Amino acid sequence: MKKVLLIVVDGISDRGTKTPLSSAKKPNMDKLAEMGINGIMDPIAPGIRPGSDTGHLSLLGYDPYKYYTGRGPIEAAGAGIEVRPGDIAFRVNFGTVEGEGSVFDKVVVDRRAGRISETDELVKAINEGIDLSEYGVEFIFRRGSGHRGALVLRGEGLSDKISDTDPHRVGEKVKRCVPLEDSEEARRTAEIVNYFMERAHEILDRHPLNEERAKKGLPKANVLLLRGVGKVPHVPSFESRYGMRLAVVAGTTLIKGIGRILGGDVIEVEGATGNRYTNVKGKVEAALKALETHDFVLLHFKATDELGHDGDFEGKREFIEKLDSHFEPLLSLDFSKVCLILTADHSTPVTAKEHTGDPVPIVIVHEGVRVDEVEEFSEFEAYKGGLCRIRGLDLMNIVTDLIDRAEKFGA
Ligand code: ZN
Ligand code: ZN
Repeated sequence: MKKVLLIVVDGISDRGTKTPLSSAKKPNMDKLAEMGINGIMDPIAPGIRPGSDTGHLSLLGYDPYKYYTGRGPIEAAGAGIEVRPGDIAFRVNFGTVEGEGSVFDKVVVDRRAGRISETDELVKAINEGIDLSEYGVEFIFRRGSGHRGALVLRGEGLSDKISDTDPHRVGEKVKRCVPLEDSEEARRTAEIVNYFMERAHEILDRHPLNEERAKKGLPKANVLLLRGVGKVPHVPSFESRYGMRLAVVAGTTLIKGIGRILGGDVIEVEGATGNRYTNVKGKVEAALKALETHDFVLLHFKATDELGHDGDFEGKREFIEKLDSHFEPLLSLDFSKVCLILTADHSTPVTAKEHTGDPVPIVIVHEGVRVDEVEEFSEFEAYKGGLCRIRGLDLMNIVTDLIDRAEKFGA
C-alpha cells in the first residue's frame, strides 16, 4: 500500500509582497514544488483564522466545527493523559498569587510562576493531597513543559459549560469558576473545580519547594490557573476512518495531542523542542523511519509560527532555510510509493503577529499527479499551480484518491 508523508510547517506563510518564505533560500522546497502539483489552501475556509488545533483537525479530514471542543482535551492528551470521551479537560498554568484569605481573594502576580521549569514534586503533592471521591469524581493532573500542565476530571454528570479560573492577566484576582449554563451538571462541576482550586492552593503555598523558592526571592508556584476547558469528544480514530495507521512527529504537546486524540502513535525525538533550535535532522529521519511502520506520517515544525508571533522576519526566514537544509533526503523518496504533502495549518504573518485567514501554499508530490509549471514554494507562485484553491477538508479526499484508497461515490 502507498504511504503518505504530510509535512506541516506551522504558520509558514505571510502577508505582503515580500515574505520570509518568498525571500528564503530553500532549494529543496522549491524542488518539491517543481516535482509536484501546487496550489493554495484555506485550512478551514476562506478568511477563517484557524488555531493550530482546528487547522490540523481540518487538514486531517476532521471538521473542526464538529469535533473541536476546546484546547483542554488536546493539551491533556498531548501531556500523556489517556483521555476518554466525556472527560472534562483543562489547560493549566502554575502561577503566583499574593494576598490574604482564600485563593479567590488573592491577586495573580505572575501567570507563569517565574517560568518555573521543575514541577514534578508539586504535581505529585497535588495528586496525593486532593481527593474528589466525595463527589464521585476522579482527577488526573500531569505536568506539561515548563510552567504548564493539564487537568482532567472524570465521572458522571460533569459539564464543560463552566468558566476559567485564570483571569488571563496579572493584577487581578483568581476567578471563581462559575456555571455558564443553567444546569445541575454545570453547577456541580464549577463547585468541584472551586474546591480543587482551594485545596491545590493550600497544598502548593506551603510546599517545601515553594518555601525554598520564596527564600531565594523566586515567585512561588502556588496557584493552578485553569483555562481552555472542554469535554473530550467522541472522535472516530484515523485508522477506522481511513484504514491507515497514523504516526505524529512533533515537538509541541498540542500537535502530539491531536495525534493521540485521533488514535495515532506519537514518536518522540530527542531535541524536538518546538522552537527554532529544534532537531530538524532528527525529526526528518524519524518521520522517514515511521513511514516503514505506519501508513500516514504527520511531520510538524512549530518555530515558523512562533517567529511569526514575534514579528521576527529574519528569524522566520532563517528557520525556513534551516528546515530546507535538512529536506534533501525527501527528494529521493520513491514517489510511486509515497505521497508527500508540504503545507501549513494557517498563515502567521510577521506583520500581524497572529494567525490570519490568508491561504497557505501547498504542494503534493506523487507519481501521476498533474505536474504544473510552478518551480518555487511560496505564497506568490503556489496559486499558479494545478491544484488551484482548496480547503483543508478537501486534502484527505485528494490524497486518498491519489493513493488509490478512496471509494467510488455512486455506480
Ligand atoms: Zn499553527
Ligand atoms: Zn500560532
